[in-house]
Amino acid sequence: MVSCEHLVRTFATRAGPFAALDDVSFRVARGEFLAVQGPSGSGKSTLLLALGGMLRPSSGTVAVDGQDPYAMSSAARARFRAAKIGFVFQLFHLVPYLDVRRNILAGLPLVDAAARDRVEELIAELGLAPRAGAAPATLSAGERQRVALARALAKQPPLILADEPTGNLDPDNAAAVFRRLAAYQRAGGTVIVVTHGTDAAAHADRVLRLRAGSVEGVATEDAGGERGAASPESRRSERRASPGTPGPDAGVFARRPFHFPSSPSPC
Ligand code: ADP
Ligand code: MG
Repeated sequence: MVSCEHLVRTFATRAGPFAALDDVSFRVARGEFLAVQGPSGSGKSTLLLALGGMLRPSSGTVAVDGQDPYAMSSAARARFRAAKIGFVFQLFHLVPYLDVRRNILAGLPLVDAAARDRVEELIAELGLAPRAGAAPATLSAGERQRVALARALAKQPPLILADEPTGNLDPDNAAAVFRRLAAYQRAGGTVIVVTHGTDAAAHADRVLRLRAGSVEGVATEDAGGERGAASPESRRSERRASPGTPGPDAGVFARRPFHFPSSPSPC
C-alpha cells in the first residue's frame, strides 16, 4: 500500500544542508498497522509528510497504492491525496471558523445522509459530543487532536497517516483513539502512526524505529514469546475479533510485545 525507497529529504539550514531523512526504505502492506517511533527530531513528521504527498523528497521514491504522488501535477496530487489518504497532522490544522462537526464534514467529498451518520458516530465514539458545536479555538489540545482524527476517518480513506495522534491525550482518550484506529484496520484500512512514545506499539503489527533520519530497526512480533493474554497472537486475534480467542482489553499499553533484532532488517 505504501513504500519508500532510498528516501532522502534535506533542508537548507544556516549550517548547510541537513538530512532530516537519510536513505529510508520500507514497505507497508495493505491492511497493516505500522508504528513509527523515534526521539524528537528523528524525522518522523518529515517521513509522514513525504509519504503523504506533501513534502517532495530530495531523492528516492515514494509510492502509495502503486502510484508516485510526486510524479503527478500538483492538482492531480491533491485529488490523489483527497481520495487515498486521511492525514492527522501533529498540529491539527483545523479550520478556525468551522465548529467541530463542520470541521469533520469538511473533509468529505460528498455529504449525504450516510456520511452525516458516520460523522455523528465518530463524534460519539471519540467523546466529542458535548463539543460538537464548539469552535476549535475553544477546544483543549486533546479535543482538537480527536477532531483531526475524526476528520481523517470520516472519509474512509484506504490509508491513514497519523502524526502523534495521542500526544495530547490522557490514557482513556488515547485508548479510544487506538480502538478507533484498530476498528479502521479491521475494516481493511492501512495505518501508519508516528509516535515518540511506545503506546502505539501494542496496537501495531510492526514498529519502525527512526534515529537521526535513518531506520535504526524494525520490530517484528516475537514469535517465540509466550502465548496468552500478553502475546502478539492473542492481541492480534483480539483486534481482529476472531471468535474464541481469549484476551482481555486491559493493560495492553504497558506491554512491549515487540522484539527488535540486533541488526536492522528490511521491512
Ligand atoms: P520529529 O517529527 O521526529 O520530531 P521532524 O521530522 O519534525 O522530527 O524533524 C526532523 C529534523 O528535521 C529536525 O532536526 C528538524 O529540526 C528538521 N527540520 C524539519 N523541518 C525542517 C525545515 N523545514 N527546515 C529545516 N529543518 C527542518
Ligand atoms: Mg514530529
